Amino acid sequence: MNPDRPTPRDKPKPSRDKPSRPPEPKPAAIVWQRVEPAVLKQFDPASKVCTMNCGPHRDDPRSEAERKYLCEDCLPAKNDAIIST
Ligand SMILES: [Zn+2]
Repeated sequence: MNPDRPTPRDKPKPSRDKPSRPPEPKPAAIVWQRVEPAVLKQFDPASKVCTMNCGPHRDDPRSEAERKYLCEDCLPAKNDAIIST
């Protein structure tokens, strides 16, 4: 009679599961800086020159004038530099 051979204990298998990570935070919704419509009315888009070709973001609800008003890359246009075509 063979005594029961002691079976080697199964080593705990390394878990194939990926280490649990905290879920990635959702990207925060973009908060668009807005201008008071009354202020925007006074703003002449021609008074600023955009040097960065600031285009609208896909979700940007603002008008071109409003973006220009808020754009910090846009330079105040010198009146004599405005070329009307
Ligand atoms: Zn700009």
